Amino acid sequence: MQESKNIAIIGSGLVGSLLAIYLKKRGHRVTVFDRRQDVRIVEFSGRSINLAMSNRGWNALKKAGIDREIRKLALPLDKRAMHLNDQPLYFQKYGKDGEAIYSISRGILNRRMIDLAEEAGAVFRFEEKVWDIELSEAKIYTGETEKGEWLEYQFDHVFGADGAFSRVRHKMQRQSRFNYSQEFIDVGYKELTIPANENGTHKLDNASFHIWPRGEFMLIAMPNLNGSFTCTLFLPFEGEVSFENLKTEKQAEDFFSKYFPDIKDDISDLTRDFFRHPTSAMVTIKCFPWTYEDKIALVGDAAHAIVPFYGQGMNAGFEDISVLDDLMEKYEDDWNMIFQEYQVLRKPDGDAIAELSFRNFIEMSQKTASPEFLLRKKIEKHFSEKYPKKWIPLYSRVTFSDKSYAEALAIGDRQRAIMDQVMKLENLEIEWDSAGVENLILNLLKEKLRNYSSS
Ligand SMILES: Cc1cc2nc3c(=O)[nH]c(=O)nc-3n(C[C@H](O)[C@H](O)[C@H](O)COP(=O)(O)OP(=O)(O)OC[C@H]3O[C@@H](n4cnc5c(N)ncnc54)[C@H](O)[C@@H]3O)c2cc1C
Repeated sequence: MQESKNIAIIGSGLVGSLLAIYLKKRGHRVTVFDRRQDVRIVEFSGRSINLAMSNRGWNALKKAGIDREIRKLALPLDKRAMHLNDQPLYFQKYGKDGEAIYSISRGILNRRMIDLAEEAGAVFRFEEKVWDIELSEAKIYTGETEKGEWLEYQFDHVFGADGAFSRVRHKMQRQSRFNYSQEFIDVGYKELTIPANENGTHKLDNASFHIWPRGEFMLIAMPNLNGSFTCTLFLPFEGEVSFENLKTEKQAEDFFSKYFPDIKDDISDLTRDFFRHPTSAMVTIKCFPWTYEDKIALVGDAAHAIVPFYGQGMNAGFEDISVLDDLMEKYEDDWNMIFQEYQVLRKPDGDAIAELSFRNFIEMSQKTASPEFLLRKKIEKHFSEKYPKKWIPLYSRVTFSDKSYAEALAIGDRQRAIMDQVMKLENLEIEWDSAGVENLILNLLKEKLRNYSSS
């Protein structure tokens, strides 16, 4: 049992509110600060970012005892629905039977998590922005403006759950030997909506993650409980087909008619929303260390912001909290050890999921539409069904397992090298399920394992 401490969490987003629940369960006094208004009293402006919750997220929620509550807000998606131009719609199962990712509205989830954290006894202080922090003292300073009067608070520990542009991390950056990098990608995104049918049903299959892959860009859609879909258009900021070149309603209309004719008319107020909704950027942020002595720790996007193409940002953040909780169990009141081991354990995973997420944009937008990629996936699936202990596809390792992201990346790279060899075989379209292909994979696996264990 840990001694009860006075703890501040900066940020009432998904990760901050989950952390509040965990810390309350351990008997700490918890105050959560957020510069925003209480998300429970804010009207959503029609923009509802949807998230995919997968195993890691569910595991962390389960350990906190709130997974059942949250499942009520989510819809399971067990497959991708691929919308290719001039081809019939086809479906790709994500994993084995019973495996699914879950579509959930970020706003609705956040509201519920704050409710649950409050019920557990955490105190929320909204519209109170943290401007500065005294790292060695765990003191924070809040106020209305940077130059105005500040309030000072003293805590035992402070968690920075304040997102990609974290103020807590900003303060840590001023230390010597603090590593930091940020990289924006050239692709932006915009949210659009497909409303429900008049009778409240979904216009598309509501157990699928819909993708319209178009090479350099793509549209995706995830269902909401109310019958609508949230669509996200991912498109380069500049270039021939880009946000920069969609300046007029006519240009936007023509773009959708050309590339997304099957869905264009179902998107509500397409041209109005296209120009009304912001075009947002995506960034990968890496840093280290994530902690300062036994006083400060970064969690979630504040420690590792990633691009959203693997649907793992929140999942990874939730996993941070579950790992921290394990370490609190292990080290009890030794917060130095808790924080030290936390960052050593989680940093390689943060880096690995950043890399995997970055790579997945190419896979989703370009490769999912290519026959070669589909054949590759078919062979992998066939082999993994026959030898489930020898081959778990990368997507499943990331999405449906709780083994580390770093391990998933390393094994995924080995599997990719094997499949590169397999794809060189002749007549593969016909012989993809032959004993020859199977034996080649088995032999290459043995060889890779030998090299791996002797390296
Ligand atoms: C388009 C898109 C799609 C995504 N899809 C998925 C997905 O499918 N699956 C998935 O797992 N993840 C997804 N993500 C990632 C996910 O949204 C984030 O990883 C997650 O929301 C991070 O949560 P957080 O609590 O760490 O940070 P945030 O949600 O950013 O919360 C930070 C909080 O801190 C507050 N704050 C900031 N600065 C201060 C300050 N100085 N003082 C006080 N408060 C402050 C903010 O107001 C905010 O409430 C997606 C992200 C994007 C952009």
